[in-house]
Amino acid sequence: MQENAFDMIDGYKDQILKTARDMIPIKAISPESGGEGESKRADYLSGMLAAMGFKVDRYEYKDGKGVARPSLVTVFGNRERTLWIVSHIDTVSEGDMGLWAHNPFELHVEGDKLYGRGINDDGQDVLSGIYALKALKESGAVLRYNYGLALVADEELGSRYGIEKLIEEGIFKENDMFVVPDGGNEEGSEIEIAEKGILWVKVSVHGKQVHASTPRLGVNAYRKAIAFISEADKALHEKYGASDPIFSPHTSTFEMTKHEKNTDSVNIIPGLDVSYIDCRVLPRYSLDSVLDDLRAIAALPEFSDVKIDIEAF
Ligand SMILES: [Zn+2]
Repeated sequence: MQENAFDMIDGYKDQILKTARDMIPIKAISPESGGEGESKRADYLSGMLAAMGFKVDRYEYKDGKGVARPSLVTVFGNRERTLWIVSHIDTVSEGDMGLWAHNPFELHVEGDKLYGRGINDDGQDVLSGIYALKALKESGAVLRYNYGLALVADEELGSRYGIEKLIEEGIFKENDMFVVPDGGNEEGSEIEIAEKGILWVKVSVHGKQVHASTPRLGVNAYRKAIAFISEADKALHEKYGASDPIFSPHTSTFEMTKHEKNTDSVNIIPGLDVSYIDCRVLPRYSLDSVLDDLRAIAALPEFSDVKIDIEAF
């Protein structure tokens, strides 16, 4: 007799905890943050899905550091359309170990709460996706749509070697539906239906370094950077000022964030100034147009005595 898939999930509690316990020590930190990538965690999860009787397709791509970044895809059912659950298997690094009450790479259970690096973001969703799949299969549920599970790499630092590659591969069909469980609030009542485009820009201003007592002999890159940034700040907020209530906040944001050290000494006029802008842009605008505008400002006559490089990364 067909059992209810929801009832079956409750019966998986011990297995889910064991999987969490096995998975958390297998770090899956991006090579860009000094980690090894997701390969070992993907090996573990694909072995588990295969043992449950599912066919798993592995898509992996080498990143800028030459490290393979694997994503796993399983589709259950033979319908036309697929409801996809997309979760990410990478995590961020542990930060300051001294601030953790327990070893972040060992699962710690307190009542109904689980603690460990990445058990929330996005471990709980990886586990939910896998065990919902198992319950659908074991309950013999008749599906109206296929259930697709995409466990993707590289979400934390831009998705270039994860979901973006899967989209390029043509795995997803036009009429498919997607749920991306990640983040949210404690009650699980927060559902995002749209997300802004993200653009990170590095602004390098090249002037001429000289002693601070003889400014006329050089070009102060820091002063030019202040002028450029303040002009860009104003121009971007004006041009991309539209508001849309489905986003929070309602408008695009352009924030000056990191600023690199420019000189070691108080009496040196810096010849190079490097700063960064974090842009979160409503989808009605193209990110390339933001970059074009920044480059146009850099080409204004008032900046003709410096070279300003604008790079997206
Ligand atoms: Zn996440």
